[in-house]
Amino acid sequence: MTSYADFYRQSIAQPDAFWAEQARLIEWQQPFTRVCNYDKPPFVHWFEGGTTNLCHNAVDRHLKDRASQAALIYVSTETGIEKTYSFAELHGEVQRMAASLKALGVQKGDRVLIYMPMIAEAAFAMLACARIGAIHCVVFGGFASGSLASRIEDATPRVVVSADAGSRGGKVVPYKPLLDEAIRLSSHKPEAVLLVDRGLSPMPLVAGRDQLWSDLRARHLDDQVPCEWMASTDISYTIYTSGTTGKPKGVQRDTGGYAVALAASMKHIFEGRPGETFFSTSDIGWVVGHSYIIYGPLIAGMATLMYEGLPTQGLDKQPDGGIWWRLVEKYKVTGMFSAPTAVRVLKKQDPALLRKYDLSSLRALFLAGEPLDEPTARWISEGLQVPIIDNYWQTESGWPILTIANAVEKKATRFGSPGIPMYGYNVKLLHESTGEELTQPNEKGVVVLEGPTPPGFMQTIWKDDARFVNTYWKSVPGKMVYSTFDWGIRDEDGYYFILGRTDDVINVAGHRLGTREIEESISGHAGAAEVAVVGVADSLKGQVAMAFVVPKDSAVLLDAAAARKLEGEIMKRVDQDLGALARPSRVRFVSVLPKTRSGKLLRRAIQAVCEGRDAGDLTTMDDPVALQQIRDLMGAA
Ligand code: AMP
Repeated sequence: MTSYADFYRQSIAQPDAFWAEQARLIEWQQPFTRVCNYDKPPFVHWFEGGTTNLCHNAVDRHLKDRASQAALIYVSTETGIEKTYSFAELHGEVQRMAASLKALGVQKGDRVLIYMPMIAEAAFAMLACARIGAIHCVVFGGFASGSLASRIEDATPRVVVSADAGSRGGKVVPYKPLLDEAIRLSSHKPEAVLLVDRGLSPMPLVAGRDQLWSDLRARHLDDQVPCEWMASTDISYTIYTSGTTGKPKGVQRDTGGYAVALAASMKHIFEGRPGETFFSTSDIGWVVGHSYIIYGPLIAGMATLMYEGLPTQGLDKQPDGGIWWRLVEKYKVTGMFSAPTAVRVLKKQDPALLRKYDLSSLRALFLAGEPLDEPTARWISEGLQVPIIDNYWQTESGWPILTIANAVEKKATRFGSPGIPMYGYNVKLLHESTGEELTQPNEKGVVVLEGPTPPGFMQTIWKDDARFVNTYWKSVPGKMVYSTFDWGIRDEDGYYFILGRTDDVINVAGHRLGTREIEESISGHAGAAEVAVVGVADSLKGQVAMAFVVPKDSAVLLDAAAARKLEGEIMKRVDQDLGALARPSRVRFVSVLPKTRSGKLLRRAIQAVCEGRDAGDLTTMDDPVALQQIRDLMGAA
């Protein structure tokens, strides 16, 4: 067996040989002629000359050996639906969806925006896009009209696929009115909207634009739609993520590199074998959903369990804190992927639930998206008696940057650390201001990657190469390296520890939110003169947003009832604009926001004050006015 150190070394020293070997894990229509083209850094082209198709590798490829085996296991504790699709059945549904999209005019390279709850049709839609070479842009169903509108505007989709409603904890959340409003707000209008009617919420149709999936499906029941052979470097999808500006970034991914990266990660990191079941509790609206609900497990020939609902509700819609373990037992799940927030929710349940089911099929639980705190890690590790594998990555990377590749070589995990650099990632720690590489253990620096970034990593920002270069590759003086915008340290054994973001991005329940976006939404309220949003520590969700608002009418500062009313209105506005995830936990009214002399908002200091810490900024601050402003704020917080 190769040691992981050798495996890693080869990936960095001889990337062509390393990745050519990994590329054998997928099927190619035309073999590639060049493994890595890094002629124009930081842009990388993987597997040039090769043609392939993600849907072929996820579905068609498996028909030969496992047509009747489970491919998609759909479970909704919101509607009580539980249904398994074999690879052959999934193939049929995907072709129906592909034929329907084609009938609506979708061609190779067109964008299809998918705004859907966790229903099987969402998986069909993603795979159908991949099949016909359309670029899917999945927008998280929890986002509201404002977020959706800016994504429609940027992606300019020919078609939107959506549904009447989602459901959360038994509460119906209508999607269609949010979508209609988003399309109204956007200057780009899709030609058609394909709608799944779940019968959850009334759904008036817009004549000439809206089409029902049930109608189109019936019309294309027996259609055969062959896979479009895509150049490896052709775009497979874009997914939006937040940054420091209010404008979301469309993270753009290729086809061949992504397929290879996922196939390799399923083998080396997630240890998924054909015929087994993988259960990722994420949502298709996030990158984990793309990589490890849809493409990764299916490419590996596994069944993927797609789950709609809370982790604490049973199929009979009654409270059931053991539902996930029940499903692990029933479907013999071998690999499970979740987030620390979900485990913290489960931790509040009866611990006996972990022993009630036969969990012997489970080999590991992977957690990602936010820092994994030690009490949570210990609790679940003791409860499940399987390795708990933390993994650190980003929407941009598409697959883990730091973790443990147990299938290459078993290695111990270390509490508080997501692990060591994964093959293909040349991870470095750099000094924040000098850009010098930190080589000594336990020095705090910015986590960066040296190019070329590995297969699966983002190609660029959709329609904006300049923004891609300027945002990610130019933040360290004099060096062209990719910044993760995370602080980190590395111990003497090479294990990394992530210490939070260097920018204004916050992480709520494992989901990235830009404070700028929330501030812009609040600024839109007529009663708000100035706004600052920061993320503050929360024992369940990791972080939550907290807003400080200077009201236009200073009477609000003295009138508790008026303040409560305005707080409610502001929260509602964020709900409607961005969705409940972004809603601040509190809105505090202040007469002034602390700023530097040059007018820059002192976010980190505000955040520190909210968390009851004495910010470093506070002690070093030489501006008495700002200092006083922060002290005032402490009163409000
Ligand atoms: P997203 O692109 O929304 O997945 O957010 C990525 C960000 O989440 C990273 O830049 C980190 O700040 C944080 N993150 C993701 N995974 C981890 C992890 N395992 N440990 C600590 N932070 C993480």
